[in-house]
Parts: sequence; C-alpha cells; structure tokens
Amino acid sequence: MKYIGKFYHPRKKLRFYGLYDRDENLVYPVESIFYPNKTGDPYNFNQLHPLLCIQPSKIIGIGKNYRSHVKEFNSSVPEEPVIFMKSPNSIIGPEDKILLPEGAGQVDFEGEIGIVIKKEIENISEENALDYVLGYTCANDITARELQKKDGQWSRSKSFRTFCPVGPWVLPVSEFPNYKNLSLKTYVNDKPVQFAKASSMIFSIPYIVSFVSKVMTLYPGDIILSGTPAGVGPLKRNYKIAVEIEEIGTLINRVSSK
Ligand code: MG
Repeated sequence: MKYIGKFYHPRKKLRFYGLYDRDENLVYPVESIFYPNKTGDPYNFNQLHPLLCIQPSKIIGIGKNYRSHVKEFNSSVPEEPVIFMKSPNSIIGPEDKILLPEGAGQVDFEGEIGIVIKKEIENISEENALDYVLGYTCANDITARELQKKDGQWSRSKSFRTFCPVGPWVLPVSEFPNYKNLSLKTYVNDKPVQFAKASSMIFSIPYIVSFVSKVMTLYPGDIILSGTPAGVGPLKRNYKIAVEIEEIGTLINRVSSK
C-alpha cells in the first residue's frame, strides 16, 4: 500500500512531501500531496517523522453519523447529515500536543475517518464524489462537551486550538477503492475504546461529500470529518490518545494543559 504525506528528516533537517511505500519501507519525495510524482531518491521510512500534511481552508464535521453514537447520547437518527464547522486553526499533526483550554469543562475525544478533498467541488453527485477525494486519514474531532451543550451552536466547542489532530498521512482513494471496509479504532492510554467500520455509517462517504458540496465549495486540502461511533469520553492531562485506521496507520497525540 502507498500513502502520501509530509515528512521530516531530523539528521538532514529536511521537510518534504513524500509518497510512502509501506512494502518497500521507503518514502519518495514528491512535489505535493496533490501531485505525488516522484522527484528524487527515496529515504528509509525509519529515519523520518510524519508531519501535518494538510492545510485545509475549512474543516467540516458530520454529527451523529453512527447509530451507536446517536444511541449513547439518547439522540435521534438524523434525516439528513448534520454538518458543522471547525476552525482550520484547530488542526495539528501527529505527536503534536492537545491543549485543554482553561475553563472549558469536559473535553472529549472523537475518533473519526477524515476525508481529504483533492479538487475544487461544487454540486457533485454521489456517483462522482470519490473522483474529487484525495483520500482518507485518521482524525480526532476534539469537543468541549459542556460548551457544546451550553451553546447549542457547536462552533466554539469544536474550534479551540489543537482540537483537530489529523494524520499521520493520507491513504489515496486509488489505493483503497472499497471505502466501506475502512475500520476505525480509538485507544486511550493504549486501551481500546471505540471501534467501527465505515460500512456502518448512516450516511456514506460519497453521500457526505456530495451533500456538503451542494452547500459550499470545497477546495483541495479541505477535510470532512465523517462522524464518530460510540465510546467517546473525556481527556485528562497526560493522556495518550490514538486513532487507528487499520488500512492507514495510527495518529498519536498526548494531552497537555499548556
Ligand atoms: Mg465528531
């Protein structure tokens, strides 16, 4: 399997976009994640650290997209996708720290499959939606739960700095056409707490992309968070939180109060 992302070579102090070939254990430098043509000699994957590879113009979240999560919140299954915005400033990469904002009350993790947009889209049909998707990544839709309930509108609770870890890289759609088989797991301090397959989403990945594109123009690098399954819970200082998509890899972040 091949992945695209951004990498750091500590010895050479070099940051570059790369195509990671897991079978060869090599990372080939490429022009960008959107033009993954090889531009130079590969590096051994073990010498590199993954970095944040996406800079979205916007992050769109989908609420209540798994029946198990709807049930855990005693909520009702939506007739249409519930969409909300998360500030692009909330984004962080692998190994970056999640900061607990002072006075924000309970802060929860939500492991999710992130959908990364490849080309500008407006009003795309469900049938053609995946042609405009670059691929999938692990994401954590961190939420200040008490503020979410208090405000009614979700923007504040979802948008604090560091509230959107993503990565470690993107699995291109071309590498994994059967998106329904993606499987998501979340671990808190190495204990498994969430599990779901993309096939159990209420609204499928192509449906979500089509639905959002009928509302707003999506640009390359924009991210849609496709919703979280049951098992969400609070984060405390020094917790280690890992979101794993079996076919991709593991996004690890630790929690800090500063
Ligand atoms: Mg969510």
